[in-house]
Amino acid sequence: MSDGNRMVAAAEAVEDKDEDKLENGAEIGLRPQRLDDFIGQEQLCGNLSVFVAAAAKRGEAMDHVLFHGPPGLGKTTLAQIVAHELRVGFRATSGPVIAKAGDLAAILTNLQPREVLFIDEIHRLNPVVEEILYPAMEDFKVDFTVDSGMHAKTINIPLKPFTLIGATTRVGLVTGPLRSRFGIQHHLEFWSHEDLVACLRRTAGKLKIVVDEKVLEVLAGCSRGTPRVANRLLRRVRDYAQVHGGGVVTTGLSEKALKMEEIDDQGLDNLDRAYLRSLMTTYKGGPAGVEALAASLGEERDTLEDVVEPFLLQIGFVVRTRQGRMATQESYEHMKLEPPAEKSGRDELAAQQESLF
Ligand code: ADP
Repeated sequence: MSDGNRMVAAAEAVEDKDEDKLENGAEIGLRPQRLDDFIGQEQLCGNLSVFVAAAAKRGEAMDHVLFHGPPGLGKTTLAQIVAHELRVGFRATSGPVIAKAGDLAAILTNLQPREVLFIDEIHRLNPVVEEILYPAMEDFKVDFTVDSGMHAKTINIPLKPFTLIGATTRVGLVTGPLRSRFGIQHHLEFWSHEDLVACLRRTAGKLKIVVDEKVLEVLAGCSRGTPRVANRLLRRVRDYAQVHGGGVVTTGLSEKALKMEEIDDQGLDNLDRAYLRSLMTTYKGGPAGVEALAASLGEERDTLEDVVEPFLLQIGFVVRTRQGRMATQESYEHMKLEPPAEKSGRDELAAQQESLF
């Protein structure tokens, strides 16, 4: 199963991209526009409002920002909010899309003063392209080499001061030189249950869906700490209610809808459960390497590392040790599988080793 087809996939699906567009002819705008409207991440939002105000007061570009954390937690939304709060333009691109150094140079030279350039998946920039970013970020200039051999010469093109906002799901893959050029760096955590309920309440209001608080609680519990998943579940439940319940979203209907989508009470879907089952049965609870698990499941290693594992690690269903991934007692209980006899001893070993990672 590819990530894009997953009901609880945190990666952006086409319908999520459309969510801010027109619905029944009315502008819905699910993404908040202001820091004050952004739910959760209070400390980060507080800090960002200070940086924004200071930059505005000085009339300068804000320092470069790096947001890192699992997909769907609000990195792009925050980048858009920063541009909005700075009252400047927002240009968005992504690491794998910028194929040549010249492509990035063209984007940079076209930026207006103080504009925000957002590069998603910045860890996937090609190294040659990345080199262009260093002087651009530090000295607002692009060094470009034309011709080669004896005739080679470097041209310096000055840039207007701008703010680069990078986003990555894999901060470990961002090179040291690039990372050190971001003055502000922040890790986005999975959202709390209360914040997800608040997000769902807001989305239900925007989409004019009438739901009671209990439904919001159920959906928040199945959202894997991810607002993108929460919004998607709400839309699915609304569809189901429209067809089977005359448009009224009740707790019973939402539970049925989640069951039909094969999402359990922890928010795990088929791929999560297949991952756990493979770890528990094929690899006897682990330790198992991510490559081996990916091969057994016929999935990309990146999908497992970016989308499946962060949440399973967060809820303590899997631990990462030097030897590989291991299933924990909680995950055996959830999957209703019997751990191997020597499992409890291994859990202790895993717990000791987890602190090393
Ligand atoms: P990321 O860039 O980290 O993958 P996004 O910024 O695209 O995540 O956010 C994912 C989705 O979550 C958005 O489509 C938006 O609807 C929703 N979202 C994010 N932050 C908020 C928020 N503070 N309040 C309401 N919805 C939010």
